[in-house]
Amino acid sequence: MITSLGRANEGVCPTERAPYRSRRTSASRGHAARCAYRATIAAAVSPTAEQSAASAWREEAGRNARAASGWEQTLEAASDARVELLLFQEGADRPAFRCPACGRAEVSEGSCPLDGTRLEPTDAGLDLAVHQTLAHGGAVWAIRHHQDLAPVEGIGALLRF
Ligand SMILES: [Zn+2]
Repeated sequence: MITSLGRANEGVCPTERAPYRSRRTSASRGHAARCAYRATIAAAVSPTAEQSAASAWREEAGRNARAASGWEQTLEAASDARVELLLFQEGADRPAFRCPACGRAEVSEGSCPLDGTRLEPTDAGLDLAVHQTLAHGGAVWAIRHHQDLAPVEGIGALLRF
């Protein structure tokens, strides 16, 4: 159901009209994530579609099933390629950490669990979540008309597994 709800601007840079996937250099990664973020914000998602997505997330989260809630779970799931649909309350963001070697996102300082590289701090945790989600083929929606995500730091996701 979720996949049919629409992915209008997924992966397209609104300023360059080019698929972000075609630009793979590390220098362009931040730009790609910011573009994806802007495209997401610009995309018109109807309140009804939002409601459907928010309901699906609430249901899964309530069953402790295929949902992530809050920054820690969501960044981890996005980095593990498990996010089908990333949902965030408009304006949600927080500092986070990123592995310079593999791009993995974490909420806490330390070393990457995959390759042991020291994580680097960033102000834009949402950029990391968005980029990791899109890079693994998921979709991203800003939630504007509902407050479902407010109790979980403004961010959550529907997961593939
Ligand atoms: Zn890493």
